[in-house]
Amino acid sequence: MKKGSEFESRRASMVACQLVARGIQSPLVLEAMGRVAREKFVPKGMQDRAYDDGPLPIGAGQTISQPYIVALMADALDLRGGEKVLDIGTGSGYAAAVIACIASKVFSMERVPELAERAARTLVSEGFDSVVVRCGDGTLGWPEHQPFDGIVVAAGAPAVPEALKHQLAVGGCLVIPVGSRHSVQSLLRITRVSGSEFRTENFGAVRFVPLLGEQGWS
Ligand code: SAH
Repeated sequence: MKKGSEFESRRASMVACQLVARGIQSPLVLEAMGRVAREKFVPKGMQDRAYDDGPLPIGAGQTISQPYIVALMADALDLRGGEKVLDIGTGSGYAAAVIACIASKVFSMERVPELAERAARTLVSEGFDSVVVRCGDGTLGWPEHQPFDGIVVAAGAPAVPEALKHQLAVGGCLVIPVGSRHSVQSLLRITRVSGSEFRTENFGAVRFVPLLGEQGWS
């Protein structure tokens, strides 16, 4: 068992070598990534690899994303602090925790019950009280709590789900990988410019597990 201080120093070097060195600049995102104990969100036998530069399996055929990808997506959300964010694909709960360091409220949706339950427990024990986890199909969003200042999707979609676009506040943005099911996707940021206008930007190639659901893959 590693001591907390050893994880802390690995976390600091992850921030420097994997994030700052690759161009992540937002002080809010860097501070959040330097704060969340990623070792608590990976399976017990894998804590030693918590700060590796890659994804790790978390059970149910799913993964906790590479730290750089979590930071890139949080950065793309362009949060200033105090926002209400919808996180689709809770997985381990790690990305929700990182976003919760910046936003004031995070609604996080996961379709696999065992992952949703485990993530909810980890988030509570790590003190992230502002995250609410629900088990369900995130392609339909979370209508009761719309509009969201930001929506982040951690699984690859065949197309941008209309339900998610329409749950954005004006000025808010949706960060989502869109493209092929089994190879690469493009990381898109869709900003709601007005009630009916959206602007799309492409952040480059990424590789995610498929987004399964009514407005995702079947
Ligand atoms: N953000 C996670 C990474 C999760 S991987 C983390 O930090 O650990 C993507 C997750 O999306 C998987 O757990 C998968 O089960 C989930 N998922 C796939 N389709 C979904 C859907 N329609 N609604 C909610 N979750 C979904």
